[in-house]
Amino acid sequence: MKIQRLNRIVVDQIAAGEVVERPASVVKELVENALDSGATRIEVILKEGGLRWIEVRDNGGGIPPEELPLAVASHATSKLLVPEDLEAIASFGFRGEALASIAAVSRLQILSKTQDAPSAYAIQVSFGEVGAVREAPGGSGTRIRVEDLFAQLPARLKFMKRPSTELNHCISWVERLALVHEGVSFTLHHEDRLSLDIPADADLSARCSLIYGKGIGQKMVRVQKQRDSLHLDARIGPPESAQRGARRVDLFLNGRWVRDARLLGAVRQGIKEFVPPGHYPVVFLSLHLPPSRVDVNVHPQKTEVRFRDERLVFGSIVNALKQGLSDSTWATRSAGSIGDSHRRAEGRYRYFEGGRVERTGQKDAFFSESSSVDLSEAREASLPMETHPDDVGKGKLISVAQTYLVREVEAGLEIIDQHALHERVNLEELRRDIQNSVVHSQPLLVPELVDVSRADLNLLLSHADIFLTMGVKIEAFGETTAALHAVPARLTHLKPQSLVQDLLEIAEENRDARPEKIQEEALFSMACRGAVMAGDHLAEEDLRSLLQRGAHLPQDRTCAHGRPVRVLLSLDDLEKAFYRKS
Ligand code: ADP
Ligand code: MG
Repeated sequence: MKIQRLNRIVVDQIAAGEVVERPASVVKELVENALDSGATRIEVILKEGGLRWIEVRDNGGGIPPEELPLAVASHATSKLLVPEDLEAIASFGFRGEALASIAAVSRLQILSKTQDAPSAYAIQVSFGEVGAVREAPGGSGTRIRVEDLFAQLPARLKFMKRPSTELNHCISWVERLALVHEGVSFTLHHEDRLSLDIPADADLSARCSLIYGKGIGQKMVRVQKQRDSLHLDARIGPPESAQRGARRVDLFLNGRWVRDARLLGAVRQGIKEFVPPGHYPVVFLSLHLPPSRVDVNVHPQKTEVRFRDERLVFGSIVNALKQGLSDSTWATRSAGSIGDSHRRAEGRYRYFEGGRVERTGQKDAFFSESSSVDLSEAREASLPMETHPDDVGKGKLISVAQTYLVREVEAGLEIIDQHALHERVNLEELRRDIQNSVVHSQPLLVPELVDVSRADLNLLLSHADIFLTMGVKIEAFGETTAALHAVPARLTHLKPQSLVQDLLEIAEENRDARPEKIQEEALFSMACRGAVMAGDHLAEEDLRSLLQRGAHLPQDRTCAHGRPVRVLLSLDDLEKAFYRKS
């Protein structure tokens, strides 16, 4: 075959493969265009999850009739003129290919009127065939309708999910865009049912409540930070909103929703001490920085980003989230976590938002048939206890299974995981020592000798300086033996043999990491290994001293891995459980 130029419609259909994946991508592009046009009211109307019909109406600037053919032509945009503009993109669009791509794979109609035009004008494109511009009745603004998406492309249609699934994707996009556009109202109708209604005057908090649910929205912790030209605004949902996976983490960069693995990694790093591994609460995080410090042009769907100074940006995120969460009372878990352990152990309870636990079957020693306990207030009740460290020396302490401490507190009773508490105490104390360069090192009477390979020994020794700042002294003893000479004096439960193994593992997993990262990993590992274990017997005075140390920390509500240290049953909870109160 001879080499030939591709037909324009085929080119657009190929481009559509990148831009238009499913109805939700069309909704996203159309709503973004409406926002770019300065609209303050945006209405989305869908049928059959958007597969049959997508319509977006706005009250923005409109398109003059002579530009309508250009609007649906590929690589035609009103938003980018010279190559330098690429450096400082402020609008959503800039490729000028969305409408052309959508029009190549659907029946598209634009009806638009600019403010000062006497009339509205329309243009239609049917699977790439562009019709003539004609006058038509319509008010100011733009209405774009997309019908029968992919109807002539059975190969694409095959990949569409059920309408209810496609609808959910569409709603998600409108929600994301609505979250970061205060001052703009959004509605979404599906088959004549109103599914989303966000008034223009709803501020970010109100938008969070409307989108994430009232129960979550009202309890979100606000974290803000300004550093040089970087502005960060985050809202973090309560512990009970935590789920496995990051499905409900919304990240925005300069008003653009992004799904970037490394950015998510920074968020994870910031919250990791507060939620269990692999779990995320609902998170809204919006970053603003000068467009010149970001490269948004890396992915056609524009959900991945590159930062010019990634380390600085990520560091700010991690610190802001950490700080914000430790300053708040966020992580004081209540019986939500009791629920979790019951579920694992017996699978007989149902769990509700807000920590309510309900029995689903068989008899149980604690809960009478079909009892239901609402423990959501427990968090507030635990506050006075945390601000009065003195009371930890008094009162009865019961150790259960040599793992849990039960004690009476003013507001009810508290259950503490001895390992989790000790781990947190170790972490905070050792971290403070390291920061102040006052780590006390305890020389071992007899050095601990551990046989390792030559390569591993070199690896260990290459980090010996870092370990030394933490009170750990490791030297070579021959070519294949590491000698551990000293450990941090604080960590009385540390086993020298496993310490060397742990440090080796950390060194292996962080081969190219910066020293701070290796130090941090070692710190977490040592805090855990240097803690009493579940099942270890502790004398009462040791338990009390542990509580005392915990009470002096910035936070002793979660362990280093984000699991709860303490769970509170308030009097109110008990009264409800025993039917003294409903
Ligand atoms: P881009 O947004 O990248 O410029 P699009 O294909 O999405 O490319 O849109 C092409 C052009 O059509 C835009 O640059 C804009 O001038 C015009 N346009 C599209 N939608 C609207 C709208 N809702 N209101 C006003 N103008 C619009
Ligand atoms: Mg666009």
